Amino acid sequence: MAAAEVETKHFQAETRKVLDIVINSLYTERDIFVRELVSNAADALEKFRHYSLVEEVEFDAHVPLEITIDCDDKKHILTITDTGIGMSKDELESNLGTIAHSGSSQFLEQLAEAAQKDVNIIGQFGVGFYSVFMAAKMVRVQSRSASGEEGHEWASDGAGTYTISPCPGLHRGTKIIVELKEDAHNYASKFTIERIIQQYSTFIPFPVKVEGKKVNTVQAIWARSKGEITDEEYNEFYKFIGNATDEPLYRFHFTADAPLAIQALLYVPKENFEVLGMGRMPPGVNLYCQKVLIDQHSENILPEWLRFLKGVVDSEDLPLNISRQALQDNSLVLKLRRVLTRRIIKFFNEEAENDPAKYQEFWHTFGIFIKEAITSDFEHREELGKLLRFESSAGKADEMVSLDAYVNRMSEGQDSIYYINGPSRAAVESGPYVEMFRKKGVEILYTLEPIDDFVLNHLGSYRDKKLVSADRADLDLSKAVVQKDEEGATATPQEEPLSSEAVEQLCAWMKEVLGEQVQAVKPSQRLVDSPAMIVNVDGYMTSSMERLLKASGQDGALGMGGKKDMEINAASPLIKKLAALRQVDADFAADLAWQVHDNAKIQAGLDVDPMEMVRRNYRILERAAGE
Ligand code: ADP
Ligand code: MG
Repeated sequence: MAAAEVETKHFQAETRKVLDIVINSLYTERDIFVRELVSNAADALEKFRHYSLVEEVEFDAHVPLEITIDCDDKKHILTITDTGIGMSKDELESNLGTIAHSGSSQFLEQLAEAAQKDVNIIGQFGVGFYSVFMAAKMVRVQSRSASGEEGHEWASDGAGTYTISPCPGLHRGTKIIVELKEDAHNYASKFTIERIIQQYSTFIPFPVKVEGKKVNTVQAIWARSKGEITDEEYNEFYKFIGNATDEPLYRFHFTADAPLAIQALLYVPKENFEVLGMGRMPPGVNLYCQKVLIDQHSENILPEWLRFLKGVVDSEDLPLNISRQALQDNSLVLKLRRVLTRRIIKFFNEEAENDPAKYQEFWHTFGIFIKEAITSDFEHREELGKLLRFESSAGKADEMVSLDAYVNRMSEGQDSIYYINGPSRAAVESGPYVEMFRKKGVEILYTLEPIDDFVLNHLGSYRDKKLVSADRADLDLSKAVVQKDEEGATATPQEEPLSSEAVEQLCAWMKEVLGEQVQAVKPSQRLVDSPAMIVNVDGYMTSSMERLLKASGQDGALGMGGKKDMEINAASPLIKKLAALRQVDADFAADLAWQVHDNAKIQAGLDVDPMEMVRRNYRILERAAGE
């Protein structure tokens, strides 16, 4: 071969970093590189099988679909060959020289961190190929695309560059020739390789031959009847399909004949990989038709919010030769998706009933996806609402209750489900918004995540009960029947409130002092102990929604937040003293009015001007310390 034909290229900067991480921090569990290469070979075979159904195959059509592994114990070379889809020159470069993940630096950090905890995770990061450099001093990838175009060889020692050169005379598919490092010679032993295949790759749906001997049994576990499959087989399949090392949290094997033929085997992992900083993960369910893979990581077979599921859906009703594009708006796929979504939601509801503690574990890890579903999947909103869990004034700390439990406990006359957002249970319980609920014995949900109010706002109502945030200005608890008086609540006699005339005057004066900060200052019907609170005039705009919009930089788009009223408590000693003070020292009283307002804003989780507040606070303290 003429030297001019060999092109030397540099790895993309991110790829070099990944290589660094893989080579230097992952050396502890080298076995996984074999699994990654074999799984890439299997993917390539699946891709070819589908390609051959959609396109006319003219080149190498007769070559059987299989993976062949050769071990050269003397030269210390491991060779993995597949007869799959292959790669063109461009594909060799883009697939093996760059990282699809767009390689943000955050991604790399997370990869490094995750890899230290569990190497097996790198398959999940879509960088499995590079693991070969844990064991290789030199790797050659010879590949010829199924299109028939002449093949090329990609070669690299993993140090920073790779070469690409023409490689004529190849069959369809890919041959990976791994020259092993000195301390990795054991990977040229057929016993080692057989053991690894048995451990990780038994479910590969193509023959895997080691030194000419087939080492796996080809089977589609989802098509077998439930009674025949052992827990162990189910778990092994999960590890295979989910690229996992642990066991799944839930497993759901579902078959139906009518109205559609469906065989689905789905798993919920134990971990949510999105919180590991990997960004949005691709869907984890593959779509098959009669055991032939037609859409890997299918975007179509399930709604996006179910992307955390791993597994397989097989339907023989689908046309075998359907192209990936055609799946997108295929009415049969839409139907399948609807049936499956409904069954999966039902499954979660059943699990929640059968084992609430386990469901709580699920909720902690994957509740965020259910919340996402409520904001995106209108068709199933009511059933999805059933899956929600929140802390509640009726439950203990960390105990989660469902909307059903809440509604079942509601007393007659209560027509709404109430909730209040806050950073923690303790913060909510010491704030002003729950005072009247506590006094009246009306249950209130604590929404402790910033996204929660947005979700409940989308849900709107549940079992015909409106969902209402307790920081709404028009909240009316007068119809809610008093179930019990909080223990001891009646023991402390309420202060005599200001006369209604005095309150009206105080409100008018405070509004004047606060100006545009509030729309109105009003006497409160629901404060018990706190002097004041901020309430929202626009029903949809709760304080937590406002924080959320602000955090996402969208507050400007909606004008500066929702309109607010301040309610004051006419029975509060502080408010009563303020009414008297303003007659004798209006300036100082104005300082107090502002401080009361800022305190109420802080309790609502809203921002105040900290500099101004500190200055004012010192003026007040100076007085309190004595003239
Ligand atoms: P992933 O498999 O998660 O995409 P990898 O790093 O394992 O990530 O592989 C990168 C890409 O290289 C694959 O997506 C595929 O396009 C290509 N590739 C790797 N091995 C093969 C193979 N044996 N045949 C065809 N393409 C391959
Ligand atoms: Mg891979």
